Amino acid sequence: MVTSYKALKEIRQYAEENKVPIMQEEGINFLATFIIKHQVKNILEIGSAIGYSAIMMALCNPDIKVTTIEKDEKRYLEAIKNIKKLELEDRITLIFNDASEVRLEEKFDLIFIDAAKAKNQLFFERFESNLTEHGFILTDNMLFHGLVEKEEKEITSRNVLGIVRKIKKYMTFLNNREDFETTIYRVGDGIAVSKKKQ
Ligand code: SAM
Repeated sequence: MVTSYKALKEIRQYAEENKVPIMQEEGINFLATFIIKHQVKNILEIGSAIGYSAIMMALCNPDIKVTTIEKDEKRYLEAIKNIKKLELEDRITLIFNDASEVRLEEKFDLIFIDAAKAKNQLFFERFESNLTEHGFILTDNMLFHGLVEKEEKEITSRNVLGIVRKIKKYMTFLNNREDFETTIYRVGDGIAVSKKKQ
């Protein structure tokens, strides 16, 4: 346990020093509580970075299995190292690829989208058929540091405005999906929980 604590601290330190965006404490706590409450066992994550959230999800319960996709080679290699360090190779499968190129057969009871903010809808539509009947799709960064709720004229960067508009479009997409019920939680950077309706 002491070793896990040390290894996790080192991963967070590496992320900070190398400017790798990983989920912060509030978001991770929400995710872990959600996984435990809903007895989630099989997880698909889009956007592994260096494996931090995949590791934190796997540590919620020894029965949990995580499949996680990362397209950046340096981060993927660092994720492999971190997963080995925590001896979770048997429960975390890393896929090195662009998620928009990946097709999977397996079913998951939770799909966690934490990759390119502008591509949320693409990932939702690509992987929704991999969701179990009672499954959930969680999407991070729905509030994008509060920018999504700001007046658009206050946003000076065209690039940032483009991302904000894509997130808003994704929210509209989620709200229009009659087969899913979506709630946005104001935790971390904003997490959307989309539950498949029965
Ligand atoms: N979930 C990670 C955590 O909290 O530890 C953080 C993920 S980080 C916010 C997003 C990651 O998604 C980046 O490492 C980025 O390289 C990856 N990514 C972006 N677009 C992707 C794509 N199309 N396919 C796979 N990975 C992608």
